Amino acid sequence: MAPIRPVSEILSEMAAKDSASVDLVSRAYVFSEKSHGQQRRYSGDLYFSHPAEVGFLLATIGMDPQTIAAGLLHDTIEDAGVQPATVENDFGIEVLTLVQGVTKLGALRYRGLERHTESLRKLFAATAKDIRVLIIKLMDRLHNAKTLEHVPRPDKRERIALETLEIYAPIADRLGMSVVKQELEDAAFPWAHSKEYEKTRELLKDRHSENDRRLEKVEKDLKRELADAGIRNFRTEGRIKGMYSLYRKLERKNWDIDKIYDIRALRVIFPSVADCYAALGVIHAHWRPVPGKIKDYIAFPKPNGYQSIHTTVYTGDGGALEMQLRTEAMHREALYGIASHLGYKESQTPQSRGGLEWIRQFFPRLRMSESSEQTEELKGAVPDWVKELAQAHTHVEQSEEYLDRLKSDFFSHRVFVFTPKSDVIDLPLGATPIDFAYAVHSDVGNKMSGARVNGKMVSLESTLRNGDMVEIITKPSAKPSRKWHDIAKTNMAKKHIRAALGEQEKK
Ligand code: MN
Repeated sequence: MAPIRPVSEILSEMAAKDSASVDLVSRAYVFSEKSHGQQRRYSGDLYFSHPAEVGFLLATIGMDPQTIAAGLLHDTIEDAGVQPATVENDFGIEVLTLVQGVTKLGALRYRGLERHTESLRKLFAATAKDIRVLIIKLMDRLHNAKTLEHVPRPDKRERIALETLEIYAPIADRLGMSVVKQELEDAAFPWAHSKEYEKTRELLKDRHSENDRRLEKVEKDLKRELADAGIRNFRTEGRIKGMYSLYRKLERKNWDIDKIYDIRALRVIFPSVADCYAALGVIHAHWRPVPGKIKDYIAFPKPNGYQSIHTTVYTGDGGALEMQLRTEAMHREALYGIASHLGYKESQTPQSRGGLEWIRQFFPRLRMSESSEQTEELKGAVPDWVKELAQAHTHVEQSEEYLDRLKSDFFSHRVFVFTPKSDVIDLPLGATPIDFAYAVHSDVGNKMSGARVNGKMVSLESTLRNGDMVEIITKPSAKPSRKWHDIAKTNMAKKHIRAALGEQEKK
C-alpha cells in the first residue's frame, strides 16, 4: 500500500506560511481523514490517501490555502456524508463553495460523442463562477488517472481514460497548465489506446540513449558558448516530450520518428527577454538552425499566453535538437498557466493584486500593443474582452474585489464552443457562426455557405451558446458579404471579411 501523504509535506509545498493558513489546511487534513474513516480505494489504500494527494498537488502548483483545504475536503460531502453546514461552519463559505462546485462536476460522466458536448457544457457552466473549482477538479482527475490500474472493470477504466484525454487534458491546455496536461495525457494514454501506446513505446525505446547523449553534449557546448559570449546568468533544463503528445505527432508524420526533433528539448532560462534574444544569436552562430523551425512566441505568444523562443538546430551528428529560450516568469507560466497567476503570492502588494498587472501577465501582448508602432498590427491579437477589462480598469479603483471579480468572470464573458473534433474555441458573448468560422481559419470563413449547431442548420446570425458544437459547411463558390461584416462580433472576423471584400472589388 502507498503511504499517505503527510500534512507536513503539503504545508512545506504551500506558498502561504502564516499561522491562519497553516491552521486552515491542517484542520482540513484532520477533518477529511476522520470523515473518510476506514473507506478504501480500489487499490486497497485508505480512501483518504486520495484527497491528501489532491491537496498536495494543489500546493505544488502554488494555490491558495482555501483551494488546498477544499481539495482535501472535496469528497467529504459526496462520499463521506458530511453536511454542507458543517463544512461552512468549520472552514468558511469560500471553502464550502469550492467543495460544492467540485461535487457538482463529479456528477458528470462521459458517454461517448453525443453526450460529450452536453458534459462539457455543464462542466463550464458549473465552473463559470470560480475557476479554482476547475483546477481542483483537474488535480482530482490527475490522481484518479494515475491510479487507473486499480480500477477493476476494463470498460470503466477505458471510459475514465478517454474522458481524461478528451475533456480534462484540453481544459488544462486551455488554462496553460502544460505540466498538468502532459501528466493527465500520459496517465490515461495506455488505458485509452493500448495498442498505440505500445507501438509508441517500442519506437521510443531505441531512441532513448541516443537522445540523452545528444542532449548532454549540446547542453555542455551551449554552456561554454554562452559563457564565451559573456552570458553567464542562466540555467538549463532537459524536457522530455510526453508519450501521448509524441503519439499524436507520430500520427501526423506517418510514424516516421526521424522526422520528430523535439522528443528531447533543451530549455534555457534567463533573467531577461534581452538575454533570450542575445542567446538566440549565439546559438545560431554555433549550430545551423533547421529552416522553418524558429518560432518567436515571445513577440507572438500563443493564444493561451505561452511565451518562449523555439529553435531547432542540427547537432552535427546527423540529428537535431529543439531549444526553448525563456525568462523565469515565462517558465513558471508555461508550466502552471493560470494557476501561476491565481496562486497565493506573499509579496503581493495591493497594487499588484488588483491592478492591470494581472491581465498584463496573463496576456503579455497587451503590453506590446501599447507601443505605438505595433498597435495597429497587434490589435486583433489581444482578445476584445481583455481590452475591455483593461479599459474598464482605468476607471475602477484598484482593489482586491476587482481581482476577485476578474477571477470569477474569467468564463462568464466568454462562450466556449466546440468543433466537430471537440476542439474548444472561445469567443465573446454574442458571437455567431461567422465569428466561429474565422476563429477556426480564414479559409473556412471565406468559403462558408452555412452552419450547423448541435446538428441543426442555423442562420449565420444566430448567437452561439456555451457548449454548442458548431460545424461550418463550406462551398468553393461561397464568398463573404457586407452583411457578414455587420453580423460579426470579433475584430478578427471583421478584419478578414474586409480584406476579402477588398479583393473582390479589385477583381
Ligand atoms: Mn475525488
